[in-house]
Amino acid sequence: MYKQKVLILGGSTEGFLLAEKITQKYQGTVEIITSFAGITKKRRAVVGKMRVGGFGGVDGLAAYLKSEAITHIIDATHPFAAQMKYNADQAVLQRGGVQLCHIMRPKWEAQQGDEWLLVGDMAQAAHCLNGFAKGLSVFLAVGRKELAAFQGCSSQSFIARVIDPPEGEVMPPQIEFIIERGPFDLAKERALFKQRRIEVLVCKNSGGAAAAAKLQVAREQNIPVVMVQRPFWEQENCVPTVEAAMEWLKAATD
Ligand code: NAP
Repeated sequence: MYKQKVLILGGSTEGFLLAEKITQKYQGTVEIITSFAGITKKRRAVVGKMRVGGFGGVDGLAAYLKSEAITHIIDATHPFAAQMKYNADQAVLQRGGVQLCHIMRPKWEAQQGDEWLLVGDMAQAAHCLNGFAKGLSVFLAVGRKELAAFQGCSSQSFIARVIDPPEGEVMPPQIEFIIERGPFDLAKERALFKQRRIEVLVCKNSGGAAAAAKLQVAREQNIPVVMVQRPFWEQENCVPTVEAAMEWLKAATD
């Protein structure tokens, strides 16, 4: 019989790693369930149990916490998954007695040689492209769900890297796809930028190592980066890494 039951809100590198580490360390005493939104079709295998699909907002999540007798939540969703983070905070308040921590990996910081144009959201990123010369080749490393923001950008051509092939999404007229999942290494990113003659990069400030190589290539090749800032979201119960989340869990289950 397990003493504790941890819900991992997954969908990031950290979520998979956390499931492995908790299983290794707490086999037989802590049960884990990793939850996925269900957006990606070809999901990586995860250690332990999993569930897929939204909970149905704050009330749905609070009901799930009760029905599954969850004792702890570790929110390992992507830094841009602001709705899920908010829902987790609210559901824990509603349910009571469940401990919650969020993993919020540090942001990328601009370094010497970077030419970053900081924007608040995808709509601003698209607007910002109007300021560039016409006919440039723009690399969209923003995810499939965000392509619609660029639908009105007809004077640039786009290369979008996505995990799953597009399925009827609204998107800009001149677009090609690279179907690939990270992590992305530096040598391959250099080759990609060269082969595709990338002239502008658009990305989210996701942070972490898995997707950072493109920023180094942009720096090396003097390519401007339209950097979408994180949604404003700040909490006290945040840790920066999986290791810190494991420390939190140790303290929370002792
Ligand atoms: P979001 O805007 O914060 O959440 C939208 C809704 O999706 C939530 O209200 C919830 O539905 C459902 N949801 C999100 N994460 C979930 C999870 N782990 N388990 C169950 N339901 C979940 O999230 P998003 O930005 O669309 O991201 C969705 C997923 O993709 C997350 O798991 C995230 O880690 C991953 N991801 C996102 C990005 C990104 O740039 N946003 C990048 C890489 C990976 P209900 O309200 O019905 O519960």
